[in-house]
Amino acid sequence: MKLDKIEAGSFLADGGAMFGVVPKRVWQKRYPCNDDNFCTLMMRCLVIKTDEKLIVIDTGTGVKQLEYLKYYHFKDIADFDTELKKLGYSAAEVTDVIHTHLHFDHCGSSTRFNEDKSEIIPTFPNAAYWVGKAQWENFLNPNVREGDSYFAENMIPVEKAGRLKLVEKDMYICPEVEVRLFNGHTAGQLVPYIHFGAKTVVFTGDVIPFQAALPIAWVSAYDTFPITSMEEKERMLSEAAEKQQILFFEHDAYNECCTVQRVNGKYRVNRTYLLDEIKS
Ligand SMILES: [Zn+2]
Repeated sequence: MKLDKIEAGSFLADGGAMFGVVPKRVWQKRYPCNDDNFCTLMMRCLVIKTDEKLIVIDTGTGVKQLEYLKYYHFKDIADFDTELKKLGYSAAEVTDVIHTHLHFDHCGSSTRFNEDKSEIIPTFPNAAYWVGKAQWENFLNPNVREGDSYFAENMIPVEKAGRLKLVEKDMYICPEVEVRLFNGHTAGQLVPYIHFGAKTVVFTGDVIPFQAALPIAWVSAYDTFPITSMEEKERMLSEAAEKQQILFFEHDAYNECCTVQRVNGKYRVNRTYLLDEIKS
């Protein structure tokens, strides 16, 4: 079994939006921002190779809506064909794509234009694409807040190609990769739990987008149900502390992974890791 990251690019997000009601004087000690109050966020995706499967978790924002999304200053957008080749794989070999959720910064490269740009097609032609059922329903009928974060062309071609798989309850995709449902940020977010030898790596997605968001009450202003987000984060962190699971951060521009410990009822970093250190 092998784990690799694909850094699918970065973007700028308003620090106030990312940290919700937390005052800037407090959050800026934990996450830097520029003079315009923008924080750099990564789109760090994961590639898992097992005996039977080649799994990609999230695909970044892609290039289809870059003009429309220029406010976010997307940079270094990765091409998955190229990045997979560097790792010795091809897009056609991908058996499964797991989408934590369908906001544009998580699923944009799941589809692409065909050669003559006449059609949008799945980037991974032979893969099953896994999405939480509640997330799919939300994508089809978004609420007012999330409407701007969903683009039909990122996922409808996947559904039309018959490659969409909906997850109704926690399940295993293969013996090494489990997906669990977490609510709050958005309905039916999938969190992959990767059982890697004796270790478990948790792809935290937007439940905990970066290490600075470990405090339970620090949730983003984008979250649709903030109290649920806090309860779900507590559920994730209490198990992570107890079992010393390794949290993998999709959006953290400065920290890839960490373990946590519970001290006086609060969760603190136990040890930070690079993904490469977990492999060895
Ligand atoms: Zn996100």
